[in-house]
Amino acid sequence: MTAPMRNRRVVFVLSAPHSGSTWVGYVLGSHSASAFLGEFERGWREEAKVPCTLCATRGLPECEVLGGIDSVAPDQAYEWAFDRVNKPVLIDISKLCAWSQRHMQGDHTFQPVLIHLIRDPRSWMASMLRRDIQPVDAFMRLWCETNTQIHAFVQHSGCRSATVFYDELAADPVREFRRLFAVCGLPFERSALEYWHAEHHGFAANGASSAIFAGHRLGPPPPHFRTADDAFYATHDRTMFVDRRWLHDLGAGDIARISADPEIGTLLAKFGRRLMPDGIVATGSVHGIRRLAAWWRGEPSQLAIRRLRRMGPRLLHRIRNFRRKDAIGGPGE
Ligand SMILES: [Zn+2]
Repeated sequence: MTAPMRNRRVVFVLSAPHSGSTWVGYVLGSHSASAFLGEFERGWREEAKVPCTLCATRGLPECEVLGGIDSVAPDQAYEWAFDRVNKPVLIDISKLCAWSQRHMQGDHTFQPVLIHLIRDPRSWMASMLRRDIQPVDAFMRLWCETNTQIHAFVQHSGCRSATVFYDELAADPVREFRRLFAVCGLPFERSALEYWHAEHHGFAANGASSAIFAGHRLGPPPPHFRTADDAFYATHDRTMFVDRRWLHDLGAGDIARISADPEIGTLLAKFGRRLMPDGIVATGSVHGIRRLAAWWRGEPSQLAIRRLRRMGPRLLHRIRNFRRKDAIGGPGE
């Protein structure tokens, strides 16, 4: 039986690419009352079509849940999906404001919920640089533009919504997912965090999907699902973890430039966040103040180390010159 329409919700996860939306979508879609659809809009975009990760790996010719999508009109997309999955909450990680807007206009039989997912720009940059070679400045502007656009869209939508930071979700998944599930109108189920136990049929393939293959005792994924992140995810198979590769992957110069970028700083301030040397913090929170205090306490020693490093060669030079003068001039004088 189809769920009552007043309880139907479509949760649109909006973010810049590679901000952790697949993982967030898998967890939100692992609730007993929800279903994950992946990047659902791909079903209507010929050049972007990909098979369902789970069914393709099982060797099925088409997805056993989303098969037949080709004959569905885009305007009927969610009606069709609600009927197919028979769950009252659908999780769509298409990430695109235009796609969400199209389905929020006019008559629809569900309540839209918007989740703006943001990743620390330094962590995001490291992820983008692993895939694409572009100047860091171009990526910085892209991060700002995408998140500014999503923020404006969410603000003007008048919908139920939440902004969430990937880094905070990963650091404290129980607290943050409890909050997100509440926004989606669902009571928190701790089991959802272990998303690899649930069956997920949708258009998504990246590192977070690796745990699905292992969780369902499937073989290795088909070649088109393999990404530059697979080896990293294999080391974190079926665990909750924080991806902090940026701390050693990004150069010190790039980290400094991103951390000091005024546009990034202004945008983060709108969400009450700021960048610290080791991550992103909420400026008003007790946790944030503690981290700020710890950083300031550590700062004099860091400064001293930096100064010593700068002074070191000059100091050595002086000592050598002093000895040389001593050796040359000393005995004759
Ligand atoms: Zn499938």
